[in-house]
Amino acid sequence: MNPRSIRFRLATLYAVILTLTLGAVGVGMWWAVRQSIHDTVDSDLRGRLAAMRGFLSKQAAEGEAGKLGEELEEQSALLPAGAYFRIADREGRWIYRSKGTEGWSPQLPQDEPLTERGKAQTVVVNGDPVRVLTAPAPGGVIQIGIPIDEFFDMLEDFGWTMALASPLLLLVASASGYWMSRRALEPVDEIARTAELISAQNLTQRLPLRGTGDELDRLSGTLNGMFERLESSFRRMAQFTADASHELRTPVAIIRTTAELARSRPRAAEEYERVLGLISAESERTSTLIEDLMVLARADAGASQLTMEPVNVAEVLRDVSSDVKVLADSAGVQLQARESVPVFIAGDEHALRRLFLALLDNAIRYTPRGGKVDVSLSVGRSGEKSTATVEVKDTGAGIPANDLPHVFERFYRAAKDRARHTGGTGLGLSIAQWIAAQHGGEIVVESEPGIGSTFRVRLPVQG
Ligand code: ADP
Repeated sequence: MNPRSIRFRLATLYAVILTLTLGAVGVGMWWAVRQSIHDTVDSDLRGRLAAMRGFLSKQAAEGEAGKLGEELEEQSALLPAGAYFRIADREGRWIYRSKGTEGWSPQLPQDEPLTERGKAQTVVVNGDPVRVLTAPAPGGVIQIGIPIDEFFDMLEDFGWTMALASPLLLLVASASGYWMSRRALEPVDEIARTAELISAQNLTQRLPLRGTGDELDRLSGTLNGMFERLESSFRRMAQFTADASHELRTPVAIIRTTAELARSRPRAAEEYERVLGLISAESERTSTLIEDLMVLARADAGASQLTMEPVNVAEVLRDVSSDVKVLADSAGVQLQARESVPVFIAGDEHALRRLFLALLDNAIRYTPRGGKVDVSLSVGRSGEKSTATVEVKDTGAGIPANDLPHVFERFYRAAKDRARHTGGTGLGLSIAQWIAAQHGGEIVVESEPGIGSTFRVRLPVQG
């Protein structure tokens, strides 16, 4: 029995509450029974008092003082066994005392004046409790006593029964409390046991649902949901690592074989120049890939914190457009960047630059010579919210409808050979989408093969 277990603590709490309740009920009942004994005896005493008063007034009216003693003796004989009465005059001197009570010390209440109702008290006479009523009567004071030892014996028996039965009751109740909490908490042990079995190697395991719909079933359901999420993110991570290694293998293999091939026999200087150029281009591509992978890995780990500051999107877009102008020129693509009024959003300038660069770079790369890339920025308002929309529209190859839903996925390339040829990593749009989401925005794409594609980035405007 572990004293820190919920089971033990529940049972203890239950026992403590039960003890207090039993104690309170026991004392309360004992007191109520005692009160009821007094009430019964007192009402009996009052009845007798009324009769005695009647008798005494009659005697006083008839004035037969000489016979009073005898009459009182007769009255006394009518009392039940052990009962008695005594009469005192106004000065407190005994006029009459029932037989056997002569030696008793005076029990007239001295401290307070007697009211008409009289005063009832319990006194001990010869070791036995007696209920005594003292009240004014014609010509003095009358005192009637009835022994209540039988009642008190009953009360005592009741007290003993309570005192003896309580610990037994307590023991039974505590044991059943412990048993009940043990039963109620049994599923928790099972949950803990199963949860222990679930590890990184075994994330498919789930906690069994008992279908009771109770709190513990809900807990199992919540934990299962958590395992589900863990499993899917674990799987994504494993997939990412596998994809990343796969992607890195190709360029490294190209670099190695190119170098080995070049060294296999002596070559002319121009040949070396060409091979080194190839190696350098492939290394550059690999560097970009590694950098992209790091951005995504950091994003996954939640370690990549963007610093949000007021940024003029129009200015960032203008800078990026002018940076890629050379690229467009060399690709024979006409780049048209429309001027816009300043639009401020809460954003990370470096990340936004990367986002726009990815879109423009794609648009130029996937547009054949003689094509056109159009960049524009507009602000729309719906209700309270303003949204900046950056549109990058090209007249390129377009994206086939079945590829369209996947272009934002990691490592996804619509036309694999072409993408490889164009030097992409398949990560540009994933990163762009992550950046847009970090800004509370989104990217959508529309594309028609052979006509061109339009990427729209929607970002919430500040204030
Ligand atoms: P990549 O580095 O291969 O360009 P991205 O994530 O940037 O990777 O893009 C994913 C894929 O989406 C690309 O391989 C390409 O097939 C397609 N794509 C992206 N932008 C365009 C575009 N403007 N025109 C046509 N296809 C595009």
